[in-house]
Amino acid sequence: MPNKSRPWVAGDAREFRRRLLRWFRRHGRDLPWRRTRDPYRVAVSEFMLQQTQVSRVEGFYQAFLGRFPTIQHLAEAPPAAVREAWEGLGYYRRAHNLHRLAREVVASRDGVMPHDPAQLRQLPGVGRYTAGAIACFAFERREAAVDTNVARVIRRAFHPRAPRSASGEARLWNTAQLLVPRRGRDAWSFNQAIMELGALICTSRVARCEDCPVSGVCRTGRKRKSVDGKR
Ligand code: SF4
Repeated sequence: MPNKSRPWVAGDAREFRRRLLRWFRRHGRDLPWRRTRDPYRVAVSEFMLQQTQVSRVEGFYQAFLGRFPTIQHLAEAPPAAVREAWEGLGYYRRAHNLHRLAREVVASRDGVMPHDPAQLRQLPGVGRYTAGAIACFAFERREAAVDTNVARVIRRAFHPRAPRSASGEARLWNTAQLLVPRRGRDAWSFNQAIMELGALICTSRVARCEDCPVSGVCRTGRKRKSVDGKR
């Protein structure tokens, strides 16, 4: 995809994708929500993962789905039961919004979740990130999903000087959308992979560039390598 105004896209995007996908095939964790394309189950995982770590969510996710296995079960449940099932995860507003979402989808859409991000964003508790994540992870659509992990990776890899402002965020989203592969399955893998990289290698605490599969095509990784080489 040659583009003179964004030379890095032409030069590095393909290689970034290729290396990241190869790494993810070998190192991606086997998480329960990665074994499903059921939109309801994907939505439950995305709501739980907002502000909570993967290791903590895993047990709650299985138990919650044991209690409310379908969107209809959740829609019909009394609020107290939903709150009880969420006990221990905290941030109860998420449970409240998920419950409202289930009721709305069952009442207005016959229990069928929309796959278009714009329609998903009309649902309670669904912002830009969650809409992109559900569209991609449930329906394998070519949509970006930029959470804090993904934003950090894209910033370090492509826009280390992007301002911490709305325009900087818009740039990260734009780059994320350009990076997502066209083919649905690859789009799913890519978004999972870049989140995984942000969770395991390029973390908020430390960027482990020496172990990173994309260090050769990352601006921060390359810079570190050249500085280390000069020592
Ligand atoms: S090379 Fe370093 S900064 Fe770049 S993505 Fe990997 S860990 Fe992050």
